[in-house]
Amino acid sequence: MSQPIYVGVDLGGTTIKVGLCDEQGRLIRTFEGPTEAEGGPETVLDNIERYVRQLVADASYAWEQVRGIGAGIPGFLDIANGIVVTSGNLKWTNVPVKEILERKLGKTVHINNDANVAALGEVWSGAGAGYDYVVCLTLGTGVGGGIIINGKIYEGYIGMAGELGHIQVVPDLEGVQCGCGQMGCLETVSSATGIIRMATDAVERGERTALASVEGGLTAKDVFDAAKLGDEVALRIIRRAAHYLGKAMGTIAVVLNPQRFILGGGVSRGGDLLFDGVRESFRKYTPEASSRGVDIVPALLGNDAGMVGAAGLCLKQIR
Ligand code: ZN
Repeated sequence: MSQPIYVGVDLGGTTIKVGLCDEQGRLIRTFEGPTEAEGGPETVLDNIERYVRQLVADASYAWEQVRGIGAGIPGFLDIANGIVVTSGNLKWTNVPVKEILERKLGKTVHINNDANVAALGEVWSGAGAGYDYVVCLTLGTGVGGGIIINGKIYEGYIGMAGELGHIQVVPDLEGVQCGCGQMGCLETVSSATGIIRMATDAVERGERTALASVEGGLTAKDVFDAAKLGDEVALRIIRRAAHYLGKAMGTIAVVLNPQRFILGGGVSRGGDLLFDGVRESFRKYTPEASSRGVDIVPALLGNDAGMVGAAGLCLKQIR
């Protein structure tokens, strides 16, 4: 057993997931443990070291076979220098993750933001395998974006490329404020949070909808479930989320002309109800020349995309 292996770390606010990949981006083995973010960067980075060493040992690989280690981290990063500038989830400021982990593990370490890494994972061995120009949108609490060009993440001037959730799509008079400070961002309508907000508003306005009788807090899944049963209010909310997503993708298409869009995250499990609306809106807002041959597909790797993509950071190019 001397084939090279690649380690990917998906660092979340509550859980750290680590995975081993082969050269084709197939997950060989995974391990998961608590982040213990309350212990600060020292504890968290200690945990990463422990989990990674455990994973490699459990899989009976020699440490020498590890060619590199990558980590996907939520927040604003100085990617080139491997520093987490700020991370809301982890409550970190200016943590030199690359330097610390390289010292602990004795291997080259690359970091990148979680949405970019998920996109890289999908292109390495998921829904984007074999495609050179791919844009991924992760529809979760927010809307994350990742742009892959020729098998590499496009990072932009200071690593802020691909912040696709902050494309402004909602007209001024209808827009609400986004976490970024701007009004009417895609994230305010097409994320799980946006869908829940629109549903809660409708219930509070007293609209006739089955959502009014949902016990406990509303979730995006409740809205999809109600829409599938024909609830008019829920259908309107899902159509609105899909409409603005397709519109934003039209903007992306005229700038980047990707071959394939991949939609991941919890909201993407809405199935045809979401995808039909997105495709219709995308065709409506995109010039034929920019939409020709472009397809829109669901992500394949699910929650594994972060680990796979992080492992892929070690390669100069994933194919
Ligand atoms: Zn925003």
